[in-house]
Amino acid sequence: MLTIAIIGSGPAGYYTAEAAQKQWGDAVAIDIFDRLPVPYGLIRSGVAPDHQSIKAVARRYEAVALSDNVRFLGNVGVGSDVSIAELGQLYDAVVLATGAPHDKPLGLPGEGSANVFGSAAFVGWYNGHPQFAGLDPDLSGESAVVIGNGNVALDVARILAKTRGEFAGSDIVGHALDRLDGSRLKRITILGRRGPHQIAMTPKELGELGHLERAVPRVDAGDLPDLQADAALDPGQRKSVVHLRAFASGAASDKPVEIHFDFFAAPRAMLADEQGRVTAVEVERTRLDGSRAVGTGEIYRVPASLVVACIGYQTSPIPGVPFDEAGGRFANDEGRIAPGLYCVGWARRGPSGTIGTNRPDGFGVVEKIAGDLGAGSGKPGGKGFDRLAAERGLDVVLFHEWQKIEQAEKDRAREGAPREKFVDVGEMIAAGKA
Ligand code: NAP
Repeated sequence: MLTIAIIGSGPAGYYTAEAAQKQWGDAVAIDIFDRLPVPYGLIRSGVAPDHQSIKAVARRYEAVALSDNVRFLGNVGVGSDVSIAELGQLYDAVVLATGAPHDKPLGLPGEGSANVFGSAAFVGWYNGHPQFAGLDPDLSGESAVVIGNGNVALDVARILAKTRGEFAGSDIVGHALDRLDGSRLKRITILGRRGPHQIAMTPKELGELGHLERAVPRVDAGDLPDLQADAALDPGQRKSVVHLRAFASGAASDKPVEIHFDFFAAPRAMLADEQGRVTAVEVERTRLDGSRAVGTGEIYRVPASLVVACIGYQTSPIPGVPFDEAGGRFANDEGRIAPGLYCVGWARRGPSGTIGTNRPDGFGVVEKIAGDLGAGSGKPGGKGFDRLAAERGLDVVLFHEWQKIEQAEKDRAREGAPREKFVDVGEMIAAGKA
C-alpha cells in the first residue's frame, strides 16, 4: 500500500488525490490535511461569494473525500502540530498543496496605514476566513482605491459596489453583508500600472461590472490604444478590451457609484492623516516601454479612505522546506522538492491560472511520485499519524464532522443563501463534534 499525505484541501489537494486514486486505485491510502477544520481552501475562502457556480466544483472534491481510501484531517497545523520531517517518516510521499494564502507586500511608504489591506485579508474578511473575519474595514468614506488589474481586483471592486439585493443567493458572511450595506462609497478607482491591453482580467468577470445595480464602470477613452491594435491580442484578451471600450463609450448614468479604471497609474505611497488612517494614494503616471511600465515623473493623488491591494499572493514557508523567496513559493523542480516531498498548484508554480489549471498539476505530480516511488515501502501512513495525534492530544476534525459543520451552516443560513459560515475555529469544531 502506498501512503500519501497531501497538505492543503483546496483544489490542488483534491485534484492530486483524484489523480492518485486513478493511478493506484485501492492500492493507495491518502490523508488530506488542513489547518482549518473545514475543507476546500480557496473554493471556500477565495472564490467570490456571488460566484456560486464556480464554488459548485466542491461537489466533485466531496466525491473524492467520501472514497474509502481518502481521509480529511482538519484542524491540523503542518509545521506546528506536526512537522514535515515527521510526516516524511509516516508517509511514502508528502505533497504540499498549501496554495498561496499571503499577500505580496506592495513595499510602499505608508502601506501600514489604517484601512489599507491586501486582497488575501480583504477577500478573507468577506468570505469569513477565521484569520481575517475580524478585519473590520471602515467603509464610511466616499472613495476606495483597488490596486491591480487582475481578476481579484475585479472581485473586490464588484463586491464593494453591490447592493444587499445583489448578494441574494450568495454566501457572503453576515458581518460583511451588513458592513457593505452601510457603505458610503461613491467612487472606486481601479489602479493599473500598465494599460488596457495588459490587463489580467477575464472577459466574463469584466463584463459583470457593466450590469451592476447602483454602480457604473468608466474608462477614459484616451487610455485606449487605437482600435486596430486590438487585432494583435489573443481572442480572450480582445474580448476583455471590448468591454473596456464599451465602458469608455457608456452613456451618462445617474447610478450613485462610479468604478473608474485609472490606467498607466503606478502607486508610489499611501498618505495618511494624523490618526494614521489612509486618505489618499500617491500615484505616478507611467508609459509603456515595450510591455514594461516606466514612470514619467508626473505625480498625482487619488483620494482614498480605503485601499485594497490586489497584486498577487505568496505561499507561506514551512520550517524545513526550501523556499523560493523571489517566486513566493516552495523551491522545486517541476514539483519535486526533495526525495518523498513534492508540491503542487500555487505552492508549486505561484498564484496563476484558474481552478481547473490545478487538475493537470495534480496529475503531473502523481506521475512524478509514481516514477520515483513505484509501490509503497511499508510506512505506517494514517495509522501512524493517528497514534501521533493521540499522543499530542490533537483535536482532528474528520470529513463526517465537516459534514456536520456544513449542515449547521446550512441550517443557520439567511433566506435564499446557501449557508452562513462559521467564522470562528472554536465554533466550527463545536458544530463538528456536536
Ligand atoms: P494577477 O492576475 O496576477 O493580477 C495581479 C495584478 O496586480 C496585475 O495587474 C499586476 O500588474 C498588478 N501588480 C502586481 N504588482 C503590482 C505592484 N507592485 N503595483 C501595482 N500593480 C501591481 O493576480 P490576482 O488578481 O491576484 O489573481 C490570481 C489568480 O487567480 C489569477 O490567475 C486570476 O485569474 C485567478 N482568479 C480568477 C478568478 C475568476 O476566474 N473568476 C477570480 C479571482 C482570481 P502587472 O501585470 O503590471 O504585473
